[in-house]
Amino acid sequence: MIRPILRYGDSLLHQPAAPVEAFDDGLQRLIDDMIETMYAAPGIGLAATQVGVRARVFVADTTVGRDRKGLIVMVNPAFVERDGMQLEEEGCLSIPGFNATVVRPSRAVLRGLDRHGEEQTVEAKGLLARAFQHEMDHLEGMVFVDRLRGIKRDLIVRRIQKLKRGGKW
Ligand SMILES: [Zn+2]
Repeated sequence: MIRPILRYGDSLLHQPAAPVEAFDDGLQRLIDDMIETMYAAPGIGLAATQVGVRARVFVADTTVGRDRKGLIVMVNPAFVERDGMQLEEEGCLSIPGFNATVVRPSRAVLRGLDRHGEEQTVEAKGLLARAFQHEMDHLEGMVFVDRLRGIKRDLIVRRIQKLKRGGKW
């Protein structure tokens, strides 16, 4: 089932998520829905907080479903390594229509659990490393706009507020 994606300004999007404790049917349904929602958007990553669930779960697929092996489901992830630097345009399904250049490490290693509770470690470079860090931010209640400074950030926030006032957000 495709779930509605919360937009910037929705309080649930801006709250940190709690660790998953039960690998039950509810979690499996959530993960299936998140995968379906991500592909339908389409996007390369989606965190549970974006569909209003405060659980430390995200899905990512830089192939957007073209390669079945591209799909990564991460439960209770934590960074074990991060290094390098990349500077690229970044967007977010919760902030449609806006992009900004965000500095991120170019490589990231995440350790967490898969959807069945088995431990997994995934090393990512380039775009996937960026996606990992973007989704990890979501699990802390943070979005890419929060990583911007000064006028770059103010400009986006003001334009979103204007869209909200006009009922277009
Ligand atoms: Zn996002």
